[in-house]
Order: sequence, then structure tokens, then C-alpha cells
Amino acid sequence: MELEDYLDSLDMGAILGVDQVSAVALREAIKSSWNGGDRMANDLFVALIGYPTGKILERHRRWFDRRRVWPETWMVWFKDEEPSIPSGHYEAFKQYVKLPPWVRLKAEERSASLTVDERKFLLSKGLLEEWSIEDAPEFLGSRPIREIREISKRLGAGKARSRRELVHKIMMKATAAEVYAATVSVVGGLIRRIKTPFDELPEDWVLYQKYKAPMLLEFFTSKYFSHRVLKHGRRPEYTTSVDCIDACMPFVERFAWRESLGFHDYPPWYPGCCCGLLPRIDI
Ligand SMILES: [Zn+2]
Repeated sequence: MELEDYLDSLDMGAILGVDQVSAVALREAIKSSWNGGDRMANDLFVALIGYPTGKILERHRRWFDRRRVWPETWMVWFKDEEPSIPSGHYEAFKQYVKLPPWVRLKAEERSASLTVDERKFLLSKGLLEEWSIEDAPEFLGSRPIREIREISKRLGAGKARSRRELVHKIMMKATAAEVYAATVSVVGGLIRRIKTPFDELPEDWVLYQKYKAPMLLEFFTSKYFSHRVLKHGRRPEYTTSVDCIDACMPFVERFAWRESLGFHDYPPWYPGCCCGLLPRIDI
């Protein structure tokens, strides 16, 4: 059985606590993240913004919290309760998926440069924030040296040994409007931030989805691998990791192999659990 068939066989709505439309969208996003070899699960992250699962990890989180034992994978992002689903998440998702892919890529890239057309596009969508001209020296100083040289050349400001000196020469030589125009033509503007529609949503909630996506992808693929081992019909080997052995001890003790086990009866036990099953090798 392939992963896709396995995912199709699951009651995704019940597992993720979502309606059928969301279940289909999330399942397809898991498939495409897997097929794209994307460990960061970006497709799933985007789908979680449009079709959020809500606080499905909360049940586990409370349990770990009560026992004061945490799986390693939860330590940084998942010790606190997931923020509530914000209003406007679906509209942001709809806008996001309509954008050309370069917007997301450039928004992630801190020192992105823009072409004239890209700049125009972002401005028309309200997705470009620029520094004011007073901040031009600092902005230019942060750019790659070849860009500063190009701007200097266009303004006839000459050459200099250091980046700082060159920026100084540019600011002395040209008016603010000229510096701005040259920056627009070489870099694409005094780029402060390239935004995506997700920037309108609460940052903590968006970040939570960003980290939840790869964890969910890992969960379903590990479940699939365990399921494949179970299909051999022979008692498998239980494997765990130092990352979750303490948190999972009650599960380890309770695990009982039989020929047919339901989704919740075999590891991994929860997103972030590193337990799994391996085929037993007879020596
Ligand atoms: Zn585990």
C-alpha cells in the first residue's frame, strides 16, 4: 500500500477534528508535501492556514503538562497552548494561493531585490513596505556591495574602498529623489519588507502552523511506515528514541501486538512521537 492509499483509508476528519472539506484539503496537502520531498511541509502549512485543525494537540499537551514530562520535539514550540484560530484566516489563505510563487520566496529572503514589474505588482497588492529616504544610508549599507557599486555608478558618485564610504559618497553626490530613483532601478526600492497576506494574521498563530505542519507530516508518514510493517502479519519490533521514551513509557508498556490494529493502537502515538515499528529480523 502506498502512502497515498493509506491516507485515503484514514478518517482524516475524525483524526484532525475537521469537517470533510477541510479533511480533503489537508490530506491532499500532506500528499503534495510528501511527494515534493518537502520536509518543512510548506503546502501543508499553507493548507493549515485555510483549513485549520484548531487545538488538536491540546489533549496531549495537557497530559504531558500534568505528568511534567515532555517529548523533545515539543520542547520549543508546543509547550504552550495553541493560539485560537484568528478571523480572516480563510480570506488570507485565498489571497495567498492566488499569488505567484516568487512573492513567498522573496518575502522569506531577507535581502531580496525586485525587478520593476515585481515592485509594481507588490505595490498594487499592498505587499511592499519601504523605508523612508532618511533610512537610505542604513538600507544601502545592508545591501550586497555589487548593488551599491551599481547605484554609485548610475549617480556618478565614484568608487570607494569600503561599503560605508561608498554609501557616504552616494548620499553626498545625489539628492534624496535621485538616490531613491537609483535604488528603485537597481534594487527595486528601499525594501523594508515584502509581505504576504499571512502577515495580516497574528504572528504567533501563523508560526504555530508553520511548526505544526512538518510535525503532522512526519506523524502521518511514520504512521504509514508502522502500518506497512504491521501488514507483514508478524510480530514487529518496537523502536523508540531518547527524544520521547520518557513521555511514551505508558504507551510502550500498554502496546500489544495483534494482527489487526486500529490507527490509534500503533506508534507513533501523537505528532512529535518518535516511536515506530520495524520488521523483526530473525537471526
Ligand atoms: Zn514516542
